Amino acid sequence: MYDVIVVGAGPAGLTAALTCVRAGLKVQVIGKVTGGQAAEAPLIENYPGFKSITGMELMKLFSEQVESLGVSMLNDEVTKIEQVNEVFEVKTSFSGRFKCRSVILAIGAEPKKLGVKGEEEFYGRGVSYCATCDGPLFKGKEVAVVGGGIPALNAALYLSSLAKTVYLIHERSRFSGFKTLIDRVHERSNIVKKLNTTVIEIGGKIFVEWVRIKNVKSGEEEEIKVSGVFIEVGKKVDSDFLKGFVELDNKGQIVIDSLCRTSRIGVFAAGDATTIPYKQVIIAAGEGAKAAMSAYDYLRGTKH
Ligand SMILES: Cc1cc2nc3c(=O)[nH]c(=O)nc-3n(C[C@H](O)[C@H](O)[C@H](O)COP(=O)(O)OP(=O)(O)OC[C@H]3O[C@@H](n4cnc5c(N)ncnc54)[C@H](O)[C@@H]3O)c2cc1C
Repeated sequence: MYDVIVVGAGPAGLTAALTCVRAGLKVQVIGKVTGGQAAEAPLIENYPGFKSITGMELMKLFSEQVESLGVSMLNDEVTKIEQVNEVFEVKTSFSGRFKCRSVILAIGAEPKKLGVKGEEEFYGRGVSYCATCDGPLFKGKEVAVVGGGIPALNAALYLSSLAKTVYLIHERSRFSGFKTLIDRVHERSNIVKKLNTTVIEIGGKIFVEWVRIKNVKSGEEEEIKVSGVFIEVGKKVDSDFLKGFVELDNKGQIVIDSLCRTSRIGVFAAGDATTIPYKQVIIAAGEGAKAAMSAYDYLRGTKH
């Protein structure tokens, strides 16, 4: 019987495991892919202590530190969690069932893809899903942001202070979000709005050089010269297996309070899979530590 099972091996899950084991708890990590989304980041330049490091290297350091403290790490998928009295049973695809006294859910999220030609090929060579992470690489250049919701508007504003021109490409006739945010986008002279427009292809030689767009009303096509394409069309949390077990919001995110507590006593959650508003490595790691401390308090019987 484990004290804690951590579901997910990204920054949140690995930090939760580190904090639990250092507090003397018996921990098992079960994660589909060690490192999570962060391991896919071409370069991370906003994690303190590392001026610039690949996501893969940073996540290797995280997992090595956790393993060096004796935490057992299993690469598998959790498909179901059940509770019998005060014990949780965690079911996996290939390794059977595990029992524990508390659970930390750190299952992360994945950026939604456009599914257009060139998107996969130029990923990390101009195509990005994280403006705050990769934006500084495009200082003084022409870039495109795809999307029309709050994340896309924020990305466009952020990039407009770095890039020469930001083409904001949105398939609908208006943006959605707070009025003040939309007004600020309209006020920025270097944000060029392309409404009723979709991306049909991203191209170049080694790096992105252009994006081909199509006006959905007129059918007219246009090629814009850009070095970067930031895709901000949302993220999805794969939380179907948690339906009915913990409260989820309408996006499938796990609802937590400020102590990372879910709607179910003894179950905690952290990182991109939760309702916390900002999604970054440093934040996921911090939330993972917080979830572990809450789990520790719960197991000691001092708090839930
Ligand atoms: C391309 C890209 C670049 C980025 N660049 C940066 C950057 O430069 N700086 C920055 O701060 N942030 C960056 N981010 C964001 C950052 O990676 C995330 O905020 C962070 O990884 C979230 O951590 P997490 O642990 O919550 O989730 P994730 O990293 O998504 O990890 C989730 C973990 O859960 C596992 N999992 C999911 N479902 C299950 C299941 N059912 N059973 C078992 N395991 C499961 C996954 O396999 C994974 O191990 C980037 C994101 C992307 C996609």
